[in-house]
Amino acid sequence: MTATAPREEQLWSRCAGCASLLYRKRLRRNLDVCPECGEHARLGAPERLRQLVDPGSLRLLPDRLPEADPLDFVDVLPYPHRLTGARASTGLAEGVVCATATIGGHPVALAVMDFRFLGGSLGCAVGELITRAAERALDDRTPLVLITASGGARMQEGALSLMQMATVSQAIAALREAGLLTVSVLTDPTYGGVAASFATNTDLVLAESGARMGFAGPRVIRQITGRALPEGFQTADFLLRHGQVDMVVQRRSLRGRLTALLAATRAGRPARPPVPRQEPASHRERLADDGAVLARPTDAAAEGDAGTPAIRDAWDTVRMARHPGRPTTLDYLDSVFDGFVELHGDRLGADCPAIVGGVARLAGRYVMVIGHQKGHTTAELVARNFGMASPAGHRKALRLMRLAARLGLPVVTLVDTPGADPGVSAEEQGQAAAIAENILTLTVLPTPVLAVITGEGGSGGALALAVADRVLMLENAVYSVISPEGCAAILWPDRSAAPQAARALRLTAPDLRRLGVVDEVVSEPSSAAHDDPADTAHRLRAALLANLLPLLDVPPAMLVRLRRQRFRRFGANRVGARAGLR
Ligand SMILES: [Zn+2]
Repeated sequence: MTATAPREEQLWSRCAGCASLLYRKRLRRNLDVCPECGEHARLGAPERLRQLVDPGSLRLLPDRLPEADPLDFVDVLPYPHRLTGARASTGLAEGVVCATATIGGHPVALAVMDFRFLGGSLGCAVGELITRAAERALDDRTPLVLITASGGARMQEGALSLMQMATVSQAIAALREAGLLTVSVLTDPTYGGVAASFATNTDLVLAESGARMGFAGPRVIRQITGRALPEGFQTADFLLRHGQVDMVVQRRSLRGRLTALLAATRAGRPARPPVPRQEPASHRERLADDGAVLARPTDAAAEGDAGTPAIRDAWDTVRMARHPGRPTTLDYLDSVFDGFVELHGDRLGADCPAIVGGVARLAGRYVMVIGHQKGHTTAELVARNFGMASPAGHRKALRLMRLAARLGLPVVTLVDTPGADPGVSAEEQGQAAAIAENILTLTVLPTPVLAVITGEGGSGGALALAVADRVLMLENAVYSVISPEGCAAILWPDRSAAPQAARALRLTAPDLRRLGVVDEVVSEPSSAAHDDPADTAHRLRAALLANLLPLLDVPPAMLVRLRRQRFRRFGANRVGARAGLR
């Protein structure tokens, strides 16, 4: 071997993805992402921190802990020898580096795992250091960001390693209780006990492009099942499709994405303690006065109501509400809101395309937006299952509602669905219970909730997003317990009676306003929403702001009391309201 060989090694490096020989400095400038094939090379913790945090903001947390070899473990080498070797080769004291820093100006505590150190394994020291980083976040009231890279728990420390999964998880739980954001970024590879604890039980889970995550490794699964694994098994894109991660992020976008999420969640009010379920009757009566506080926006914004033009036939309205050109939730996210960051997945196995959700800004204020997504073309409609949510969609919505409440973000829902997915697999996965859980959760969600029926408000699938403090409805939207066709098929001789059924069901915005199901009708341009989406967006934005701003001043406990009172009104004593219908 010549004397120049080691030098050559340092100057050049071979891509693990495409085998290109790459100039090291160029590779580093490209954040260790191969410019040829996009392969994300593994990063050590120090380099990861350098890429992620604001220059000059990094303050390392202490990394020295008392030496521990609790089992006197020996395989072919004594455990202390392995530790010494890992320290020498990485220059790190342990397999994780913890610090405080700012990312895009937002203070955070960080724990960054380093796969080079004994496979990023989770031992007692690693668990202790990450727990201390979480406790530091709690003390400083900052979010916690975890960057994971690990083969799992550290065998050399036996069951004590296993216990670290619980130790770190309870520190995460404390942050959750305090309404402080926790984010994990899965990097390649994240497996075993780390995957099955703090890598996935955080509020948000991001996966770096190409990262693999799983409980059992592919080799083990192949051995046990004797089967070939699907293409891309356990990769970031696979995880996204199966509802396990909120998003897949290219390394060059990671800092920006984290900054946007930190900004959104920093804006929220801290979560408040839950509201007791039962109230004495006298208490309830007293709340009648509180109700008056929230009644104001209706009166203030009633002109759209008063100025409602000639009453359109209900069946015409149904066709209008279903018009393929009608703006969708994603259209409104683009036109009414700013800076939408979509969050995916139910964490249980699927990401339903019929429901979209994430954080966005409404006139500078951060909100969690959740809505049904249809589409304009047949291909879009098919891809989105015509806006009919699966149980996974309802569970994604539930996860985002709860996250919003914990972080103090108001929830805005946009309802546009013919109904929940009526398929076989939806039933197998508990469609009824999924809808039921959303309805129940919304009745007690300790944060403002504003719902808008933008198109079709179909049955329980609609209500799963529409138990709210204020329920708005676009002028040509419909909201009904059953589709007119379904109603006609059951109560009339055949489905051709749908127009009559539509009239009988009282499903138009003015009718529902009179019944008190809807608080305010948002007028559409004189033609209709699909003829002038920009004007519709302008009107919707004004209505959202007029209704949301007063809610922001109401303490969450009172919001919940008033919301429950709102839905308590729809009992049998409501019969008198029928007099208002013509
Ligand atoms: Zn490459």
